[in-house]
Amino acid sequence: MAADRSEKGSSVSEYALLTIEEGMQLIDRLQREHGLPKTEMAALIGAHCPELRDYAKAKARAIADQQYGKDIYIRGLIEFTNYCKNDCYYCGIRCSNARAKRYRLSKEEILACCREGEKLGFRTFVLQGGEDPYYTDDRIVELIRQIRTAHPDCAITLSIGERERESYERFWEAGADRYLLRHETAAASHYQKLHPRNMSLEHRKQCLRDLKEIGYQTGCGFMVGSPGQTVEHLAEDFLFIRELHPEMVGIGPFIPHCDTPFAGKMQGSMELTLYLLSLLRIGQPDLLLPATTALATIHPRGREMGIEAGANVVMPNLSPVGVRDKYSLYDGKVCTGDEAAECRNCLEKRMESAGYHIVVGRGDHCDVR
Ligand code: SAH
Repeated sequence: MAADRSEKGSSVSEYALLTIEEGMQLIDRLQREHGLPKTEMAALIGAHCPELRDYAKAKARAIADQQYGKDIYIRGLIEFTNYCKNDCYYCGIRCSNARAKRYRLSKEEILACCREGEKLGFRTFVLQGGEDPYYTDDRIVELIRQIRTAHPDCAITLSIGERERESYERFWEAGADRYLLRHETAAASHYQKLHPRNMSLEHRKQCLRDLKEIGYQTGCGFMVGSPGQTVEHLAEDFLFIRELHPEMVGIGPFIPHCDTPFAGKMQGSMELTLYLLSLLRIGQPDLLLPATTALATIHPRGREMGIEAGANVVMPNLSPVGVRDKYSLYDGKVCTGDEAAECRNCLEKRMESAGYHIVVGRGDHCDVR
C-alpha cells in the first residue's frame, strides 16, 4: 500500500512514492546507522503519513524512555529584548516591522527573572533576544558575570544570534555554557528566500561550528513548513545536524506573523513537525529535543504531543508578563498572559497528565550520557 499523502497543512511537496513497508525499513536503517543518505532521507520525509508517523513515534518514544526515562527537563526562557537589527522575512520582531512595540529589559530586571526562576526550580536560564546593538559584548559579559555569581550552580544559555568568534569566547569565559542558534534551513537557496541578502547561511553555520569548538553545549534547529521548503531542504537539515552533532535541536512549525512579508503564507504542519521530531530522536538518541512554544501554539496539546513523539525538554517563559506579548515572533503565541509560576505549574500538570515529570537540575546533556 502506498503512503497516503493527502493530508492537508503540509507545505512540503510530494516526493517519490514509498510503500509503508519501505518507509518502515528506512526508519529502521536510520536507527541502525544514525543517518540516511540525502535521497533516502528526503523520500522518508516525503512519505510521511499516519502509519509511518505512528511507527516512528513508537520507536522514538521507546528510545527517549531508554535515554531519559520519564524525565522532562525545563529551561526558563527570558526574552530580554525584541530590538533586532536583522530583517528575517518570517519574524515578527524584524527591524522593518514598525508596528512592533520595542522593549528591552535592564540587567536588574533580568536578574530578577533569574531569582524568580531559581525559586521555581529552574537551573537553566535561556537569555533570548533579537540582535540588539544596545547589548554590546561588554554588556553581555557583565550580565553573564552577575548571573553566574548569583546562581553558581545554574546553566546559562545564550540565544542572541550571530556574533564574532571572539565575542562567543568572551561570553564563554564569563560563564555562559550553552548557546542556541537555529540554522533555520541548511539549504543555501532556501536560506536566501527567508533572509535578506546581507545574511548568509555560511556565516550562520560557521557560528555554530565556532560555538561547538569553544565548548558550548550547542543547539541548532529549523522551522518546519517555512515558505518554499521542500523535502530535499529538510533532508539537508538532517545531514547538517548529523555533521554538526549538536547537543540540542529546536524545531517548530513556521507560523505567519501578520506584519511580515510572509503574512499570507501557510502555517507549517503539526503532523510533519511531530514526525520530524521522532526522526531526530531515532537518528540521535541522546539529543535534547524541546517541545516548542510554536508547537503549543498550533495545537492545544502541542507540547504533550511533542513529548509523545520523542521530545524531552520544555522551555517555559520567565519573562515579565508586561513584555510577553511584545516578543511576538509569530501570531497567536501562547503563554503570554501567565506569570512565571503559573506557566511552570501549568506545564508540570500537562507533563504529568501525559505520564512524565519535570526534573529540577541543570539537565546537562553530559550528565545523562
Ligand atoms: N535572534 C536570535 C533568536 C531568534 S528568535 C537568533 O537569531 O537566534 C528564536 C527562533 O524563533 C528563531 O530562531 C526562529 O526559528 C523562530 N521563529 C521566528 N519567527 C518565526 C515564525 N514566524 N514562525 C515560527 N518560528 C519562528
